[in-house]
Amino acid sequence: MSKPLTTAEKIKILWKFVFGRKTGVIIDCAFCAGTNITFKSSNTKEDQGQVVYYSQYVCNSCGACCENKQVWEG
Ligand SMILES: [Zn+2]
Repeated sequence: MSKPLTTAEKIKILWKFVFGRKTGVIIDCAFCAGTNITFKSSNTKEDQGQVVYYSQYVCNSCGACCENKQVWEG
């Protein structure tokens, strides 16, 4: 027989449900480890079956800039 969930367990499950799918894309600042990051701009290039995605971010905590490049292969 299973026991009913406590409030803390329910919150934990809800938290996972709401935020779980986002954890793969959260970025943090390399300088201050802050996660208060603003997305600035992006562009995408397709080349020989690859998609290259460039984006820029700014850390709102310390002002550091990030240049991000992703190479996606299908
Ligand atoms: Zn920072």
